[in-house]
Amino acid sequence: MQILADYHTHTVYSHGKGTIEDNVKEAISKGIKTIGISDHSYKHMTYGVKIKDIYKMREEVNKLNLKYSNIDILLGMECNILDENGNIDINDEVSKLLDYVMAGYHFGSSPTSLKSMLNHCNNYVLKNEKSKEYNTKAIINAMKNNDIFIITHPGDKGDVYIEEIAKVAKDTDTRLEINSSHSYLNASQLNQIKHIGNKFIIGSDAHRPENVGNFELAMKNIREANLDLSLVENIKL
Ligand SMILES: [Zn+2]
Ligand SMILES: [Zn+2]
Repeated sequence: MQILADYHTHTVYSHGKGTIEDNVKEAISKGIKTIGISDHSYKHMTYGVKIKDIYKMREEVNKLNLKYSNIDILLGMECNILDENGNIDINDEVSKLLDYVMAGYHFGSSPTSLKSMLNHCNNYVLKNEKSKEYNTKAIINAMKNNDIFIITHPGDKGDVYIEEIAKVAKDTDTRLEINSSHSYLNASQLNQIKHIGNKFIIGSDAHRPENVGNFELAMKNIREANLDLSLVENIKL
């Protein structure tokens, strides 16, 4: 199997252990053609990237693209899905600096309202039907209202109705991630949606350079669910 791209890697700009160049070198050593740097966006309270640092990251990525001609280096961002209206932490200033946008739900993202704050609590403690509905609506509206390339680890930290999400992903041409660190999408979710025909991307979600391109867990879930591999855009058999 050849890995065409790993769009989901973190660096020291949020809470990863390596530099952008460390991730690039690791990707080259594994024969990966495209590497995406996608740190946590600025409304994550503990490790969101500072907006002034995104300018530095852009410059660094531009320089590294000149230095390494055998790989494409992209600057993305893993935005936070903030509430049921589908708001994510992106603005015009930031989006101009990026090559692509991913979005996922994380504990630790700033609440936009009392309701979104209570939903964090529900996901953390109660894990009830109400929070499942809220989480589903949040992801669906995020896809409808923003230009998102990939929804990261759908269902992680907050349960969702995955079929509803996959249908909207297909309609809005948004990829759903099979995350190789968090095991979402997992085999059971993939089984529920494999007939829908939406596109998938595998992401390593590497927080250390050596995990760039580590797709083992995702491949295990894919095999278990017997997912049609032609739906997975960033690998080639
Ligand atoms: Zn994430
Ligand atoms: Zn991540």
